[in-house]
Amino acid sequence: MPTYVHPTTLAEAFELLGQEGDTRYLAGGTDLIVQLRDGMIAPAAVMDVKALPELQGIEINNEYLEIGAAVTFNEIIASSCVGDGCTLLKEAASTLANSLLRNRATLVGNLCNASPGADIAPAALVLQGALTTATPEGGREIALKDFFVGVKKHALDANELVTKVRFPVSKGRGIYLKKRRIRGHDLAQVGVAGFYGIDGSLRLSLGAVAITPLLLDGFGTLGPDELARRRDEIVAEAASAAKPISDVRASKEYRIAMVKLFTERIIDAFATGTEVQR
Ligand SMILES: Cc1cc2nc3c(=O)[nH]c(=O)nc-3n(C[C@H](O)[C@H](O)[C@H](O)COP(=O)(O)OP(=O)(O)OC[C@H]3O[C@@H](n4cnc5c(N)ncnc54)[C@H](O)[C@@H]3O)c2cc1C
Repeated sequence: MPTYVHPTTLAEAFELLGQEGDTRYLAGGTDLIVQLRDGMIAPAAVMDVKALPELQGIEINNEYLEIGAAVTFNEIIASSCVGDGCTLLKEAASTLANSLLRNRATLVGNLCNASPGADIAPAALVLQGALTTATPEGGREIALKDFFVGVKKHALDANELVTKVRFPVSKGRGIYLKKRRIRGHDLAQVGVAGFYGIDGSLRLSLGAVAITPLLLDGFGTLGPDELARRRDEIVAEAASAAKPISDVRASKEYRIAMVKLFTERIIDAFATGTEVQR
């Protein structure tokens, strides 16, 4: 069994890292505890980071929505700070598991687990999220578009701690469509997020159809008429970007068909300003 440590300051956390050897961070534990139990990982220590002051809170700061790494999905769903285009985060969060789990699970934990099917990843990518990190030597910002590098692999260095995730407060409309096998809680067979800015910018992101969540952001700016005209071309681009596998959740053919359907529905809703078909 790994040693459990529970620092209350960043200085204490970094001091403990030096003493404990191979250490994994624990937030809600809804991925980490499963991986420990199943023997997928066997660290010397588990560091509970939930009490660190730098990881708390949701706030708007200089036109950025900032969400601390210890913030749970239910706190995000309930927060009045998460507004405008960023309400897409609430929509995607509401599809993740069930309310009990969302009371523990964090958005940053979902990103750091780096699953190709992570529900928050497509929403966070189209909203142009970036992670702020801390290490004993300092810290940095990592754009989410550069963060996912493989199945369960990300761009963090060993022991680099994410303190928060930030999103530009963007005006526009976001949509997340998730296909799962059952109506209850289940991981995504396919997830597609779209964001259409009031300036005509369009970004799409695909989950569970490649080794990492994918961001498609090379569409330029499009008015609603042009968006409608280019719908089939954009759908074809999304379908050709998807490189899914067949597994217990869905065949690769089904996944590609759902990418097409969801992308069509999202573009239609953006172009016409109507409700998306779910
Ligand atoms: C029953 C069940 C249903 C689920 N359903 C879904 C679902 O529908 N959709 C979905 O996407 N996921 C689902 N999950 C997966 C999981 O709940 C999410 O990925 C969750 O958001 C992980 O957050 P956490 O706070 O629990 O992370 P943890 O388990 O604590 O950590 C996850 C990973 O991130 C690392 N980490 C955590 N915080 C930091 C930090 N601050 N800095 C650096 N690294 C960090 C940990 O070391 C670990 O590797 C489900 C899990 C269960 C058990």
